[in-house]
Amino acid sequence: MIPLVDLKAQYQTIKTDIDTAVQRVIDSAYFVMGPEVTHFEQKWANFCQIPHAIGVASGTAAPHLVLAALNIGQGHEVITTTHTFIATAESIRHAGATPVLVDIDPRTYNINPQQIEAAITPHTRAIMPVHLYGQPAAMDAIQAIAKKHNLHIIEDAAQAHAATYAGKPIGQWGDAATFSFYPGKNLGAYGDAGAVITANQALAEKISMIRNHGRTQKYVHDLHGYGERLDAMQAAVLSVKIDHLAAWTAARRQVAQHYRQQLADLPLILPYEDPQAKHVYHLFVIQLENQKTRDHLLDHLKNNGIGASIHYPVPLHLQPALDHLGYMQGAFPHCEHAANTILSLPIFPELSKQHQQTIIQTVQSFFH
Ligand SMILES: *Cc1c(COP(=O)(O)O)cnc(C)c1O
Repeated sequence: MIPLVDLKAQYQTIKTDIDTAVQRVIDSAYFVMGPEVTHFEQKWANFCQIPHAIGVASGTAAPHLVLAALNIGQGHEVITTTHTFIATAESIRHAGATPVLVDIDPRTYNINPQQIEAAITPHTRAIMPVHLYGQPAAMDAIQAIAKKHNLHIIEDAAQAHAATYAGKPIGQWGDAATFSFYPGKNLGAYGDAGAVITANQALAEKISMIRNHGRTQKYVHDLHGYGERLDAMQAAVLSVKIDHLAAWTAARRQVAQHYRQQLADLPLILPYEDPQAKHVYHLFVIQLENQKTRDHLLDHLKNNGIGASIHYPVPLHLQPALDHLGYMQGAFPHCEHAANTILSLPIFPELSKQHQQTIIQTVQSFFH
């Protein structure tokens, strides 16, 4: 069995440092916020080459808190992509605002900047692009639209740790970028965790307060806040793992390169790389000619012990939970076609050459 992602394999490579860090937190009995969290925030801000990082409880809390800090809520609209994990839209709803969905660029699977302007209304306050699968959205075009219409940009970078666009690290294009450190993400904690990064000091201070009940000092609360703090155990684990992220990202890109070379001659579409983007391959997503072929290949891989999957089979505009938004089948044809024809192959830094070869040969055998 070759899994989609293997967290046990990674732990084995860093076990001593992780065990030491976790024990240190237990010995300190300082479990929520505190020095471990501050240390992690400094490390993550340095890594992202940005002044401020704020540790929060998850990658869903992160964009929610940014919206709240920007006073975006009831009566406001936030434009995002229909092809993403549901949490992107949930964070907008948690803030009290309405998600307005836009179709994708069929090559990159990211929000199509050309369709954003048509979705802008007098109620629009922000654009929330998602750097899906690890490839940054077309941030130059999105930034131009945001400037023209005086809108905020919040980058959902839950899948794109260490990615860059036009040579600039993600997070520096928008007012803020948000990360998830869910265990399977490119930088993963050992539980739920997330972060916001921003160059805006006032915004950073406000987010830092509202994640912790809006408090300024113990039992003094200046702002309406939330219980969305980061815990020390996760911060300690993440601080160990940050030191490996550059090497892990390089390893992911190498696996992607290998897949690319070996699968080039097959009747399938390989991931398109925007020449401006540094893709960090959270997922390696191939696309088949039609749904029947995709479903058969998925079965073939599963029957051969390969943990392939689909990200995501149901677009946001067709999710029952978002029914009230009123979108119909056919509203976003590029996303609907992608949802029916894409397939994610296993990719993670520890994926051995031998397992890569097995995966490649299994895909090849399907077509021969
Ligand atoms: C994982 C993910 C989230 C949510 O992160 P959690 O930490 O699980 O709350 C948000 N957006 C995208 C695109 C994600 O992939």
